[in-house]
Amino acid sequence: MIPGGVDGNAKSFAGMPVIKNAYGSRLVGIDGREYIDYCIGYGPLIFGHNDPEMIAALKDSLENGGFIYGLPHLGMWEAASLVCRCVPCAEMVRFTNSGTEATLSCIRLARAITGRDKIVKFYGAYHGTHESVLIGIKASQKEPAYPYVGADSAGLPQGVIQDTLVLPFNELEYSIPFIEKHAGEIAAVLVEPVLGSYGIVAEKAFLEALRQTTAQHGIILVFDEVVTGFRLAPGGIQELFGVIPDLVALGKAMGGGIPIGAFAGRRQLMEHVAPTEDAVYNSHKVAYHSGTYNANPLAMTAVKTAIGKLMRDDPYGRINGYGEAIRQAIQSCMEAHGIEGTTTGMGSLVQCHFGIHGEIRRVEELVGRDLTRQERFQSLLMDRGVFFIPGPRAYVSAVLQESDVDRTLEAIEDVFRIL
Ligand code: PLP
Repeated sequence: MIPGGVDGNAKSFAGMPVIKNAYGSRLVGIDGREYIDYCIGYGPLIFGHNDPEMIAALKDSLENGGFIYGLPHLGMWEAASLVCRCVPCAEMVRFTNSGTEATLSCIRLARAITGRDKIVKFYGAYHGTHESVLIGIKASQKEPAYPYVGADSAGLPQGVIQDTLVLPFNELEYSIPFIEKHAGEIAAVLVEPVLGSYGIVAEKAFLEALRQTTAQHGIILVFDEVVTGFRLAPGGIQELFGVIPDLVALGKAMGGGIPIGAFAGRRQLMEHVAPTEDAVYNSHKVAYHSGTYNANPLAMTAVKTAIGKLMRDDPYGRINGYGEAIRQAIQSCMEAHGIEGTTTGMGSLVQCHFGIHGEIRRVEELVGRDLTRQERFQSLLMDRGVFFIPGPRAYVSAVLQESDVDRTLEAIEDVFRIL
């Protein structure tokens, strides 16, 4: 009944458990087996499963707030004001239901403002499931010819592929002159500050150079902080690095697990989304954005509760520390057992790679890694009750206790003994 038995292609892997339910830091399979969950819904569940404060707020919203209004409401302003308070580039915000809609909306807005068609993205970056960005995600070539044109899905129109220019990540010598040369055609440069599929972190100098070049040429710089926003810090990488984009795409942790997305940015740019009296739909000035479920009361309650809780509890030191402990444990096991490998990630985002070593700056360096050993590592961890996303990748949540992390480190050491 369900193609591939999964709700998303990236989520399919051999031996995946079927889940009965979840609580706190645990997933429970239909066979009753429990796993310490480092998938956490692919990132959103920053407080783990069924956080009591989230549940109380959501229950109250469902019972007293209605499901959906289709009209402005206070919750929307309250949620928007929290986003604008936390995220440096956000002066105005529009809510969506997913990160995909958020990046799509940023791109449309950039095209509307600049009157240009092409966008730049980087090799290895994932920005959701819409056509323009399903290109150049998978690390498949060691020396791709840039701009790279490999689509990651069938069914993409040629015109769309041609309008997406995929450049090398963390690399300035090619990318900056390329952007300068084609500036007249480029509406937006879209960057994922930590390549979520690989854990590779953008260098500050790379983001700064993109900031400078795009500003010089009237190109809209978009940070895709769907993963990094509210996870690495409330204001994401822009808060940590002090490099401020024109627009940002948000989602995941911002809603604590309830479907959510948002795009935000400078007032002067975001106002191009506002309907004018004569142009709700069709004007060269207005970038259309709408959605039946946008800013529904439940989602706005989730955003308010999640952001409020993150600001109050400030879990970042703790979850980043856990992330670092897991990265270090994997790295020292690799060394102790003479297994070639390395770790990537930042803070509570953890990833490891086998069959290669050293610091990884670009996805090209990952081509040829030992995927068989990576799969085995993830699967052996799962046998020991620890669920990493195949990759292997781990998102650390604030519900984890020190004892959970200790159990995870023991499982890692145990796995390395037989890897
Ligand atoms: N951008 C990034 C960086 C992501 O990691 C994702 C999802 O994993 C998206 C956008 C798309 O978000 P969604 O799955 O909510 O559509």
